[in-house]
Parts: sequence; C-alpha cells; structure tokens
Amino acid sequence: MEVRIDKVRKEFDRFAALHDVSLDIRSGELIALLGPSGSGKTTLLRLIAGLERPTNGKIFFGEEDASDKTVQERNIGFVFQHYALFRHMTVLENISFGLKVRPKETRPASADIRRKALELLDFVQLSGLDKRYPNQLSGGQRQRVALARALAIEPRVLLLDEPFGALDAQVRRELRRWLREVHDRTGHTTVFVTHDQEEALELADRLCVMSQGRIEQVGTPDEVYDRPTSPFVFNFIGESSELAVTAENKELWIGGRAIGLPSDGFEGQGRLFFRPHDVDLVEGDAALAGVVISSRRVGGTRRVELAIGGDAQKIEIDLPFDHPAGERSRLAFRPKRWRLFPTAEVHQKVP
Ligand code: ATP
Repeated sequence: MEVRIDKVRKEFDRFAALHDVSLDIRSGELIALLGPSGSGKTTLLRLIAGLERPTNGKIFFGEEDASDKTVQERNIGFVFQHYALFRHMTVLENISFGLKVRPKETRPASADIRRKALELLDFVQLSGLDKRYPNQLSGGQRQRVALARALAIEPRVLLLDEPFGALDAQVRRELRRWLREVHDRTGHTTVFVTHDQEEALELADRLCVMSQGRIEQVGTPDEVYDRPTSPFVFNFIGESSELAVTAENKELWIGGRAIGLPSDGFEGQGRLFFRPHDVDLVEGDAALAGVVISSRRVGGTRRVELAIGGDAQKIEIDLPFDHPAGERSRLAFRPKRWRLFPTAEVHQKVP
C-alpha cells in the first residue's frame, strides 16, 4: 500500500513538532525515518498510524484520504520498542489477539486463527514456544513475537518504532538482518523509526532524514551517504570533516593559499565537507596540507588529526598507515569527493 503524506503539520499546544512535511512512501518499500531525538520521527509514525491527527494536511493510503480514519480502519501493524506483549497471554494468544478481537463479520474461525498464528510462529522461527509467556522469552524473541502479532492482521502498512532499541548490539544486528529477510519475503510497506544511522543504512530501501520537524533529505542509502544535500545530513550520516574556505577566482582558498579545488561557480565564504576516509595523499603545493597533531587507531585504519592553514583549523582524515605527530610531519591530500555549502546555510541548518 502506498502512503502519501501531504503537507502535514502537527502542533502540540502551538509547538510545531512537524512543519508541512510531505513524503511519498512507495508500495512494498522499507523506509527508515532517521534523525536525532526530537526531530519528529515518532510523531510522523503516529500520524501514519492514526494515533494522532494532523493539525493541517492530509494522509492518503493509496487513493483514499485516510486522514480521519481510525487505527483499526487503517489496518496498521505496529511494533514498538516498549510495546510490551500481553503478559498474561501465551505467545500464541498474543499472536492471535488482533484477529480474535475483530468484529464477528470479519473474524476468521477459531481453528483458522490458530493455524495462522502457528504458521506465523514458524515464520518468525519460534516454533515450539507457543505456550510460553512473554517473561519466559529473551528480548529478541519477544520482538519476534511482536512482529508476528503485527503481521497476523495482514496490515496494509507495518510501522516499527525503534523495535530493537532495547536490545544489545549483537542481537540487534542479528534481528536487523532477519527483519530485512522477513520484509523481502512478505513485501509489506514498512516504516521504520530509528536514530541509529548504521541500522538505517543497512536495512532500508530509502532513508528519510529528519531534523527539527522537517525532512532534510529522502533517498537510497547510497544517495544519502554519497550525496548529502545539506550540511546537517553530511554531519548526521557517516563521518564528516569540515573546513572554512574562501571561494574566489574559481578556486578555494584557506589562509591565502589555494588548495587545488575548484569553487564550482560559488563565491564567498563557505564550508567544505568531505568524508575522512575519502581522501588521497598527493605531492606538491596546490593541495590541502596540514601538520599532523595526532594519530590513533580506528578499526582497520589510522585516524590522523591535522592542523590546516594559518587559521589552524583542525580536521581528521583516515589513512592506512601511521604518521608521527609533530611540526615536521606534513601531509598534503585531496578529498576525492566533497561538497561546498555557503557559510550562512551551514549556520542556519546545523542545530
Ligand atoms: P525520539 O528519538 O527522542 O523519540 P523523535 O524524533 O521521535 O524523538 P518526537 O517524539 O516525534 O521526536 O517529538 C518531536 C517533538 O514533539 C519533540 O520536541 C517532542 O517534545 C514534541 N512532542 C511529541 N509528542 C508530544 C506531545 N504529546 N505533547 C507535546 N509535545 C510533544
């Protein structure tokens, strides 16, 4: 089911948690809402669910205006971080719940509900645990049951709010891969809220990056990582290094020295962004050059801190080998890919 969010604004006591947000969620895709705390991810999810009403704007499910429909009418499946299972019900009863409480006309026969719940239990790889109670399950198993319960009603849209947030890193990674497999097999339109960029990059077909109640960028993981359209996204997704530069005469300058990068039509004060790992060491003067301040091991590479130019700006780059720190240790390099943003825009957008 395709979901269209059309200029939705949400205010709580005149505080705007979302400002005129528009987003097209494609049928069958897994889209991650990603952003720092307070950026409006959960609010957007609750609006899609029907747990909140927009102050302005509309939400369409396919062609249908769902803005005034209830949660039940929208037929939504949920998994929340702390959406505890019913403690007094067994695993099987939990999974069956959504079907059992349906009005008589649409409720399947008991035997069919049971069969379906057992199938789902098998599907989430928990066969044999049907008679257990939630407190007899691990955190990861509970979230699998929660997903089975959400799938049981054959939802038009599946909404997951930090479903693995309370689990340890190892289980979290396992469940992330597993969820991707489940999604590929079931093909539900899925909206996944997370503040973990690694999780979003690995799991999602597309990312919707949010900040301060606005959408900053929507795109595939590669698009968002390789071509961030704002300083905020550059900083928030992946690692970034940033330098103040002056653009003049078609070139970029730092402290009166040309750094060998074109200004691409831009003139004035700007901020140059690039990824620490995305650099080449080069020979010669017409390059970015700096003195090594420190170097430390990060995973398989060395992260080298450099002081650049007369302004002594500090940045980090990743290199495959170690470099001694000190005045005589000077490195010249060139970012392979970079983005230049006007200084005014940087100050406006980065919170
Ligand atoms: P987190 O990752 O911390 O859950 P989030 O991106 O999901 O954050 P939201 O929970 O959507 O952010 O909150 C967005 C903003 O709206 C926050 O400033 C929050 O305080 C505010 N807000 C959310 N719900 C309410 C409410 N019911 N009443 C008042 N303000 C609210």
